[in-house]
Amino acid sequence: MSAAEELKADVEDAIADDEPAAAISPRIDAAVASGAKDLRIGLMGGTFDPIHYGHLIAAEQAREQFDLDFVIFLPAGNPSFKQDKKVSDGEDRYEMARIATQDNRAFDVSRIEIDREGVTYTYDTICELRDKLPGTTEVYFITGADAIVSLPKWYKADELAKIAHFAACTRPGYDYTQFKEAQDADIGLQFEVEFFDVPALAISSTDLRKRVSEGKSIAYMTPPQVIRFIAKRGLYMDGEI
Ligand code: ATP
Ligand code: MG
Repeated sequence: MSAAEELKADVEDAIADDEPAAAISPRIDAAVASGAKDLRIGLMGGTFDPIHYGHLIAAEQAREQFDLDFVIFLPAGNPSFKQDKKVSDGEDRYEMARIATQDNRAFDVSRIEIDREGVTYTYDTICELRDKLPGTTEVYFITGADAIVSLPKWYKADELAKIAHFAACTRPGYDYTQFKEAQDADIGLQFEVEFFDVPALAISSTDLRKRVSEGKSIAYMTPPQVIRFIAKRGLYMDGEI
């Protein structure tokens, strides 16, 4: 067994016991408690309303590309950038992310943002996570091309760049050339963003919500257990996308 496999086996044993409320997420808490050092952790923020294969592929490709031990999905509580939009209940979005990722021992879901009152900012979340992780942990914040272009406008953007690496993946329909050119030309805020390619998947949560509200199929766009959950809870039926 490789060191990474051993770590994951220990983590599975630890989370099999009844755990108190998670500090970060069950697998990460167990890894930290077992004394894992020099962890490399990816954070995948998003609304996940609902989670889909675009998110899962981006997370898996980032895991491989940046040699991450874990990727933590962070369903947003009350996202600052979606104040004017109707977002499904945090518990439903958390549960969909959990059931979509549970069969991957390198994936986990954190309640940190959905449990926080008020508007959530990525900067505050990463600070909170860093406080709970050993100082030697490397943190990668993973986004799609659409999200990364707005990075310089994020809350405390310059501070953010000091506490995490940024990894941005390609997403059909979104171009980050201008962002990259500005970065290369040293204009304005400087961020070290590592770009990576993922097999193109033109899937969005907006499109999934629309399809469900129109009674159309979302098969093969998100895992079957998520599709069953959406049907059971009657999500996205009201047509307000
Ligand atoms: P919505 O349509 O509601 O905005 P979304 O599909 O964009 O949903 P989000 O929860 O907003 O999903 O996205 C979370 C993160 O995942 C963002 O960084 C986004 O860029 C990235 N992402 C979402 N879909 C894809 C995709 N198909 N390919 C690559 N990255 C994606
Ligand atoms: Mg989006």
